[in-house]
This record gives sequence, structure tokens and C-alpha cells, in this order.
Amino acid sequence: SDTPHWLFGDQLGPHFVDPARGGPRRDAPLVMIESRSVFRRRRFHRAKAHLVLSAMRHRAAELGDRVRYVKADTYRQGLREAVGDARVTVHHPTSHAARAFVGALPSVRVLPARGFLVTHDEFRVWADERGTKRLRQEDFYRWVRQTHDVLMEGDRPAGGQWNLDHDNRRPPPRGAADLGVPAPYRPRESDIDAEVRSDLDRWARDGDVEFVGEDGPRGFPATRRAALAALRRFTEHRLATFGSYEDAVLSEDATMSHSLLSTSLNLGLLDPAECVERAEERWRSGAVPLNSAEGFVRQIAGWREFVWHVYWYFEEGYRASNALGHHKPLPDYFTQLSSDGTEANCLSHTLKQVGSTGWTHHIPRLMILGSFALQRGWEPRAVTDWFHRSFVDGYDWVMVPNVVGMSQYADGGRMTTKPYTSGGAYINRMSDLCAPCRYKPSVRVGDDACPFTAGYWTFLHRHRDRFAHNARMTRAVRGLDRLPDLDALLEQERGRGD
Ligand code: FAD
Ligand code: SF4
Repeated sequence: SDTPHWLFGDQLGPHFVDPARGGPRRDAPLVMIESRSVFRRRRFHRAKAHLVLSAMRHRAAELGDRVRYVKADTYRQGLREAVGDARVTVHHPTSHAARAFVGALPSVRVLPARGFLVTHDEFRVWADERGTKRLRQEDFYRWVRQTHDVLMEGDRPAGGQWNLDHDNRRPPPRGAADLGVPAPYRPRESDIDAEVRSDLDRWARDGDVEFVGEDGPRGFPATRRAALAALRRFTEHRLATFGSYEDAVLSEDATMSHSLLSTSLNLGLLDPAECVERAEERWRSGAVPLNSAEGFVRQIAGWREFVWHVYWYFEEGYRASNALGHHKPLPDYFTQLSSDGTEANCLSHTLKQVGSTGWTHHIPRLMILGSFALQRGWEPRAVTDWFHRSFVDGYDWVMVPNVVGMSQYADGGRMTTKPYTSGGAYINRMSDLCAPCRYKPSVRVGDDACPFTAGYWTFLHRHRDRFAHNARMTRAVRGLDRLPDLDALLEQERGRGD
């Protein structure tokens, strides 16, 4: 039959319309719905709104007559306008809300999820077999490597070791302003972008939606073609140095050796399998070292995949977890992405970068923005919402586990073994941000006290009882007892405004 098939805005690649992989028939009409209410619900980064609309409209232009593209207020209205009460199919959407919505419509038949390596059923079997509520990425990743035959030599991991993280934690090269790798792929805008920009201007002018951040030249691919070019550029010119400097931060080199592929993966323009295969081929041909290929494969076949499954496995209530009882609101400068609200150089620098691009690599997200929120005791739900709105690659499924679980430890350790947070010494070792800062990373108390160093001890003190029982935290907690100035430090932190 000619049952129409509905494509969500993050289902834009060929693997979402592939009859050979359980998708719609080759001649099935397609439906796309641009819902304005999605943007009204949250104050999104403008670069994110731009990218999503641009990618959807580029896809519609490619599909031509085969697609009915409806601009509506809500999905429900759009669907009615596009197909009336007729039956439609759709691949499993990526958020609990959208999944519940399509599940409640009798006319919609939901097909399996696409865009991930492991199916829901396979993950459930894996997780249930562990018989535990504490799921670990490392175990999952090794299982994916084995079952998908990725970077394997027979039944052993390539190179004899599963984990090469110890090679992948190098501080940035001393005194260097940048890593010196070729620049990442940057797309060229089209007429569609000009249209999107003028629509967004109008929506904002009408007071219908509000945005934060700058909408500079679009920095990320909006088409399959551009996404493939970005993947090629990364694997051919930038992957070799990915591993060693994965965790390093340089103020003048925002992208370092990172792939910038998260938006293309999350929009469905790229399939993770092709990214993993390309990286493995580069290693097998001798073009890149194993620690780089493995580091990159781990991000995609390990972390990305794990986070997706944790989101579904832990179900809807997970987002409200708040094991540490943190309830403070985010300060205004943070929500407005203003770099003027703080004198901490690392924070203001990172906020500025988020404001102008909607993107930073992993370490500024985890060890600067997320760590600060955790130390200050901000409400995990509000922090999740902030990340979701402010980042070009933010979607519900990827933000909830990354923020609630990984960054805010609000799930009490269901997906990580210990909280990710540190004092200024770590930031000083891994970046060049401390030298120009008015604070000193080694100072805990007084005018020069680094807010991360003081914040770290305050956080440990606040949760001392809980962490004293965590084997990976006992040493840190014992460190509290050796601090001669703990009382003065706590007094100082009580007086802080942020
Ligand atoms: P690279 O460093 O080149 O890594 C390659 C790919 O691995 C990424 O493109 C991404 O697809 C995948 N990946 C790596 N780590 C993760 C992870 N933890 N979760 C999911 N995918 C991962 N990533 C998002 O795609 N969307 C988000 O909304 C998001 N929010 C995050 C929030 C916090 C607090 C933290 C700590 C991490 C978050 N991440 C998120 C993960 C990671 O920071 C980004 O995927 C990465 O920085 C994107 O840049 P890149 O494409 O250059 O990544
Ligand atoms: Fe950040 Fe502290 Fe370093 Fe300043 S000294 S940049 S506040 S870590």
C-alpha cells in the first residue's frame, strides 16, 4: 500500500527511508512536520534552531515531490493537515514525549529505531543479564566491540588492550596556541539558510519565540552530502591526533582534533556504523594510530550508544533524579550565556564560546560547565534543560543521561562510578585557561581563591557521608581532614553570590 511515512526532524539520512532495513516502501509518500510550538516551549540557542530548520528544509528540497512538508503549530495539527485520519508509519522517535505521542495515535504504526548500532531488545537482554542497576559504559562498550566485530583481532581487542585511555589524557602541548591540525570542515550556506534566518527574525520580532546566542554563519552540515564531506575531512586529516589530546583544552583552538560530527549523527545525517567503519579502516591501513581510532570508536560505539540505551532503559522517571538533593537555581549570567557574569576565566571563556557557536568539546561541558553546576548545587533538571537549549547537538535522549547521570551525579551512581568534578589543578593541567585568570588554581581561601578549588572542597564536605562509602572517593574525602583552613573556606563559600 501507499501508507505515508513520517520523518521527524532528526531522521534525515537515507537509513530512515530504507525498505531493505524495515523502512517505508520505495514509493511511499513522505511527511515532514515543522512544529513551531517546539521552539516556543524553550528558549533555544538561535544557531540550534537555525541548524535544525535548515537541515529539515534541505532534506525536503532533496526529496522534492515525494514529501509533503507541513508548517504547523503542533505535530498533531501538522499530521492532520498532511494525512487526515489515514494510517502512517514512523521510525521510533528519539524522546519519551514523542514516543508517547505517536504511541497514543491509533493511526500511527511505529517501526524500529534507526541510527544506532544496538537494538532496544539487544540492550535489554544485555542489561537484564547484568542483573544490576549499575550499568557501566566500559562493559557495554567491550560487548559492542565483540558483537559487532569492531577493532578486533579474532576474539581479542586490536593491540591486546580494550582501553587506551591512559594514552589519551595528554595535556595540551606546552606554549602552543593551537594543536596545528587542519581545520574542520565548514559548510557553505544556501538560499535556504537565508530563508530560515528571516523566518527566525520574524518569529522573534512577533514575540512568538525567544532565543539566546548568536546565529553566525551556520557551522555544521545540514545535508547528507555535507555530513559525508565532514566525516571524510575528519578521518583523513584530523583523526590521527584525536586520541592523545582528546581531553585537552586550548583557548585559541576550540575544536582541537575533535570531529564535530555530533550534530550530523544526531540529525540522522550520518549513521554511527559508517563513522566507526571509516575510523577502523584508517587504522587498518596504517594511516592513524590505534589510540586515536580506538578513542574515537569508544565515543561513538561506547558512549553515544550507551547514553541512548540508558535513556530508554531507565525510563521516564530518570530525568527527575536528584540523589544529592540539589535545588539552587542557575544564575542569570549562565542562562543568558553571558561571559560578563564571572571573573573565572575558564567559565567566562566557555560561556562565550557556547554563546557564539552553541558548541564546545566534551571537557569544557563536563569539567567546566557541568562541574561548576555540580559544585554549586544547582537543580539537575534545570541544568539539563539549560544544556538542552544551549547546545546545537542537544536532544532530550542525549542530554538526560549526560547531565543527570554523568555530569550531575543526580542518579546516585547508576551510570558512573563517581562524580566528575575537580579543583582548579585539573583545569590548569589540561588547559591554558588559568594563566590569564585573576584567580590562582592552587589557592583555596582569600581574594585569589579559585572558585573551582574552593567549590570542589565545599562539594566534598557537603556530601562527605555519602562519598565516604564510595571506594573511588574515600581518598578525596580523607583529603578534607588534612585541610588546615577548611572552616575559613566553608565560611568564604557561604558568602558567595553564585
Ligand atoms: P568528538 O569528541 O569528536 O566525539 C565523537 C562523537 O562521539 C560525537 O560526535 C558524539 O556523537 C559521540 N559522543 C561522545 N561522547 C558522547 C556522549 N557522552 N554522549 C553522546 N554522544 C557522545 N553530545 C551530544 O551529541 N549531544 C548533547 O546534547 C551532549 N550533551 C552533553 C552534555 C554534557 C554535560 C556532557 C559532559 C557531554 C555531552 N555530550 C553531548 C557528549 C559530547 O560532549 C559531545 O558529543 C561532543 O563534545 C560533540 O563534539 P564532537 O562531535 O566533536 O565529538
Ligand atoms: Fe578557572 Fe580557577 Fe583556572 Fe581561574 S584559576 S581559570 S577559575 S580553574
